[in-house]
Amino acid sequence: MLIPKSHPRATSLHTREKLVRGYKEGLVVEEGLLAHGRGEMFDYLIGEKTSKPSQNAIKAAARALLKAKLPVISVNGNFAALCAREIVQLAKTTGAKIEVNLFYSSEKRKKTIARVLKKKGAKEILGIDPKFSRRIPRLDSARRVVDKRGIFSADVVLVPLEDGDRTIALKKFGKKVITFDLNPLSRTAQAADITIVDNVIRGMQILITTCKKLKRRGLQKKIKFDNKKSLSEAILAMKNNLGRMAHA
Ligand code: ATP
Ligand code: MG
Repeated sequence: MLIPKSHPRATSLHTREKLVRGYKEGLVVEEGLLAHGRGEMFDYLIGEKTSKPSQNAIKAAARALLKAKLPVISVNGNFAALCAREIVQLAKTTGAKIEVNLFYSSEKRKKTIARVLKKKGAKEILGIDPKFSRRIPRLDSARRVVDKRGIFSADVVLVPLEDGDRTIALKKFGKKVITFDLNPLSRTAQAADITIVDNVIRGMQILITTCKKLKRRGLQKKIKFDNKKSLSEAILAMKNNLGRMAHA
C-alpha cells in the first residue's frame, strides 16, 4: 500500500510496513510483531512525536556513548528491520561496536540480520561467531549468550526494544544501559540508566544528529539527567494527552 507522506498517520503506517517486510525477510519473529503493537499503542499516547524529556534523554545517551571506552549497540530483529541504516551511522559516529543479540535465538536469523547491516555499510558484526560466545550471569539458556569482544566487555550498551529480564541482568553485570522503549512502565524502561521514551525510528535519527553536534562542540559541559524523573514526566505527559483526548 502506498501512503502519501502528508497523511497524518504516515509515520506509523510506514513503520508497520517496514516491520512486516522484516518479518517476511526473516529478520523479525511473530513475537516481535506483537511487541511492536505494544509500542504503537504508547506512541499514540505520546502523540507520535519526540517529547522534551525524550530529547533530554537523547542528549544524555549521546554523551554516555561518546564518553564510553567500549560502547556496544545490541541489535535484535525489530531494531534491524526498522533502523538498519541508522544503526550503522550511529556506530560510525560513536565508534560503537554492533552486536546481533536475539531474545529468540536462531543462527539463521542472526546471519540474515548481519547481512542486512553489512549491506548498509557495517564492517564488523559481533554475536555471530560462536568462538567468541560468553555468558551473562544470572540469565537462563540461550538468552544469556553474548560476544566476548562486545557486550561481555562493554561499559555502555544501547539495547533498544529489549526484554526486562535481560536488561536487569545486564545492569547486575555492571553495564550502563541505554534503551529506547515507548512503554515507560516496562521493566526495561524502569531498570535502564537512560530510557528514551520514543519510537526508535524517530529517536535514532535525533540521537545520531546529537552525537555529531556533541562531537563538534566537545563533551566538557555536563548535563543533569535523572531517569526516574524523566520516566515520571513521560507518564504524566501520556496522562495529560489522554485527558485532552477524553475532553475533545
Ligand atoms: P519488559 O520485558 O521490559 O517488561 P515487555 O515484555 O512488555 O517489556 P518486550 O517485548 O520484552 O516487552 O520489549 C519490547 C519493548 O519495546 C516494549 O516495551 C514495547 O513497548 C517497546 N517497543 C516496541 N516497538 C517499539 C518502537 N518502535 N520504538 C520504541 N519502543 C518500542
Ligand atoms: Mg519482556
